[in-house]
Amino acid sequence: MHINFLALVWGYIIPIVLALPSLDSLFQIKANTDSDGGCSSQLPDPLGKWLSESRTLVNAGLQALSDAKNPSASENKVAKDYLWSYFNMSPDDTDAMNLVQTNLQTVKNFLDGQTTTANIPYLFCNDKWLQKLQRSDVAKDVNGNDIFEYDSTASDHLSPMSIENVPSYQAWLWKVQKNGRIVRNNQVPYWSDDMRQYVFDINYGGKTYCTVSNDHLGATQHGTTPSTITLCPFAFTNNKAGETLGDKEPARGLSITDILPRSGTFYHELFHLTIGNEHTPDITSKYSWTEQQKYLKTPDRIPSGYDENYQTLIRRNPETYLWFSVGYWYFQQTQWTSTNQRWSFHSGAGELLQL
Ligand SMILES: [Zn+2]
Repeated sequence: MHINFLALVWGYIIPIVLALPSLDSLFQIKANTDSDGGCSSQLPDPLGKWLSESRTLVNAGLQALSDAKNPSASENKVAKDYLWSYFNMSPDDTDAMNLVQTNLQTVKNFLDGQTTTANIPYLFCNDKWLQKLQRSDVAKDVNGNDIFEYDSTASDHLSPMSIENVPSYQAWLWKVQKNGRIVRNNQVPYWSDDMRQYVFDINYGGKTYCTVSNDHLGATQHGTTPSTITLCPFAFTNNKAGETLGDKEPARGLSITDILPRSGTFYHELFHLTIGNEHTPDITSKYSWTEQQKYLKTPDRIPSGYDENYQTLIRRNPETYLWFSVGYWYFQQTQWTSTNQRWSFHSGAGELLQL
């Protein structure tokens, strides 16, 4: 009787406790097509794999913080070295530790389904969910109907309104010059049929975000409700990155930037998505380790166009979290080493350590 009762209870509880949300409960995804941003070819894998690798990476990052705070952990010294090289911080720097810990935890909470949102974000696998328009095209409302404005010369006193004249889009499409004149900026409207909303972005010289450069692997934007992550097709074929986490074997002197998995693009975008683009500046524009290290030589300097110093910006930079998490994950592995030895990337490049 008791055994049966327990079996019954466990039977219900275990799946609830262990089940992590699937990709299609965390995101709105078009699973049955590759057109218009659909992800059919990338499901269930690699996207399912990218989700589980992102969970692994965020846990590795959080473990590094915990090891750095724990003097009795055998990884303590190396973990502190990671903190110093990647974030310019020591475990005693409470503000810095809190910022990094909170950012990692925010991503983890989202991946664990702990984030309550009324608007489930979209995940797109190409940028064709956006239709590029002209600023002078007729504006449409959320039902896809033309928007009209008052026109005393028209017979019905109404004429279609252009997108650039819609008052709520003016902040996206116009700028104020120093002399006070209001002029057009370089943004153009893109229409999303899925959300029936506009996204405003540059023209990319007639191409699109994903096709203009192979450096563009993904993008997150919050201009629409809900927010969106777009993974570019090249992110799925990028041969510089390993197909899976751990595909690339560590080696002496190998840069952390050359041992990243393809899931790193998704992981990077999760920081933009969950923390917000304005709090996650891509300060290393070329995703270069050398660039980051150069900035950390003058940690207190505030670069032009920003209101925070380099070390704070780096503590908000998604790519730094990717490097840090991948680097520490490699340090946690034992499959490439003999007893008491580990590969570490605490200096930004691979080296074999005796623990
Ligand atoms: Zn980014």
